[in-house]
Amino acid sequence: MKRVHFAPTLLDAQLAADALSSLGIDSRILNANAAGALGELPFMQAQPEVWVDDDTQETWAREVLAGLLNALPKAEKRCPQCGESNPGNFLSCWQCGNALPD
Ligand SMILES: [Zn+2]
Repeated sequence: MKRVHFAPTLLDAQLAADALSSLGIDSRILNANAAGALGELPFMQAQPEVWVDDDTQETWAREVLAGLLNALPKAEKRCPQCGESNPGNFLSCWQCGNALPD
Protein backbone atom coordinates (compact mmCIF):
# COMPACT_ATOMS: atom_id res chain seq x y z
CA MET A 1 0.00 0.00 0.00
CA LYS A 2 1.26 3.45 -0.93
CA ARG A 3 -0.37 6.78 -0.14
CA VAL A 4 -0.77 8.82 -3.31
CA HIS A 5 -3.12 11.65 -2.37
CA PHE A 6 -4.29 13.83 0.50
CA ALA A 7 -7.85 14.92 -0.21
CA PRO A 8 -9.38 18.09 1.26
CA THR A 9 -12.77 16.40 1.53
CA LEU A 10 -14.14 12.87 1.44
CA LEU A 11 -15.83 13.55 -1.90
CA ASP A 12 -12.48 14.62 -3.34
CA ALA A 13 -10.99 11.37 -2.13
CA GLN A 14 -13.86 9.44 -3.69
CA LEU A 15 -13.49 11.23 -7.04
CA ALA A 16 -9.75 10.53 -7.02
CA ALA A 17 -10.34 6.87 -6.19
CA ASP A 18 -12.95 6.65 -8.95
CA ALA A 19 -10.50 8.13 -11.47
CA LEU A 20 -7.91 5.53 -10.48
CA SER A 21 -10.34 2.64 -10.54
CA SER A 22 -11.55 3.62 -14.02
CA LEU A 23 -7.96 2.92 -15.15
CA GLY A 24 -7.79 -0.37 -13.30
CA ILE A 25 -5.79 0.92 -10.33
CA ASP A 26 -7.15 -0.51 -7.10
CA SER A 27 -7.17 2.06 -4.32
CA ARG A 28 -8.76 2.64 -0.97
CA ILE A 29 -9.64 5.66 1.12
CA LEU A 30 -8.29 5.90 4.65
CA ASN A 31 -9.44 8.38 7.30
CA ALA A 32 -12.83 8.34 5.58
CA ASN A 33 -14.57 8.59 8.93
CA ALA A 34 -12.20 11.11 10.47
CA ALA A 35 -13.87 14.26 9.11
CA GLY A 36 -16.21 14.44 12.08
CA ALA A 37 -13.21 14.50 14.37
CA LEU A 38 -11.71 17.58 12.74
CA GLY A 39 -10.80 19.97 15.52
CA GLU A 40 -9.83 17.14 17.81
CA LEU A 41 -7.13 15.75 15.55
CA PRO A 42 -4.27 17.58 13.85
CA PHE A 43 -5.51 18.64 10.42
CA MET A 44 -3.27 16.36 8.36
CA GLN A 45 -4.33 13.33 10.36
CA ALA A 46 -8.01 14.00 9.79
CA GLN A 47 -7.81 14.43 6.02
CA PRO A 48 -9.02 11.56 3.85
CA GLU A 49 -6.12 9.79 2.14
CA VAL A 50 -6.09 7.74 -1.05
CA TRP A 51 -3.81 4.69 -1.02
CA VAL A 52 -3.08 2.29 -3.88
CA ASP A 53 -3.03 -1.41 -3.07
CA ASP A 54 -0.25 -2.26 -5.52
CA ASP A 55 3.01 -0.47 -4.71
CA THR A 56 4.16 -0.79 -8.32
CA GLN A 57 1.23 1.43 -9.41
CA GLU A 58 2.20 4.31 -7.11
CA THR A 59 3.99 6.40 -9.75
CA TRP A 60 1.24 5.84 -12.31
CA ALA A 61 -1.43 6.75 -9.78
CA ARG A 62 0.40 9.98 -8.86
CA GLU A 63 0.63 10.94 -12.53
CA VAL A 64 -3.07 10.26 -13.04
CA LEU A 65 -4.01 12.40 -10.04
CA ALA A 66 -1.59 15.18 -11.01
CA GLY A 67 -3.21 15.25 -14.45
CA LEU A 68 -6.66 15.28 -12.89
CA LEU A 69 -5.86 18.19 -10.59
CA ASN A 70 -3.87 20.16 -13.16
CA ALA A 71 -6.72 19.86 -15.63
CA LEU A 72 -8.88 21.90 -13.29
CA PRO A 73 -8.91 25.68 -13.41
CA LYS A 74 -6.71 27.34 -10.80
CA ALA A 75 -9.08 30.23 -10.21
CA GLU A 76 -11.19 30.09 -7.09
CA LYS A 77 -14.53 28.39 -7.49
CA ARG A 78 -17.64 29.50 -5.68
CA CYS A 79 -19.84 26.78 -4.28
CA PRO A 80 -23.28 26.79 -5.94
CA GLN A 81 -24.84 25.47 -2.76
CA CYS A 82 -23.43 27.52 0.11
CA GLY A 83 -21.61 30.32 -1.75
CA GLU A 84 -18.27 29.58 -0.11
CA SER A 85 -15.11 30.26 -2.11
CA ASN A 86 -12.91 27.21 -2.78
CA PRO A 87 -9.40 26.82 -4.24
CA GLY A 88 -9.51 25.95 -7.95
CA ASN A 89 -8.04 22.50 -7.45
CA PHE A 90 -10.79 21.40 -5.06
CA LEU A 91 -13.35 19.03 -6.54
CA SER A 92 -15.85 19.56 -3.75
CA CYS A 93 -16.71 22.37 -1.35
CA TRP A 94 -14.63 22.31 1.84
CA GLN A 95 -17.51 23.82 3.74
CA CYS A 96 -20.58 21.82 2.72
CA GLY A 97 -19.12 18.98 0.62
CA ASN A 98 -21.18 19.84 -2.47
CA ALA A 99 -19.49 18.91 -5.78
CA LEU A 100 -18.01 22.00 -7.43
CA PRO A 101 -18.58 22.83 -11.12
CA ASP A 102 -15.64 22.44 -13.52
ZN1 LIG B 1 -20.49 24.69 -0.25
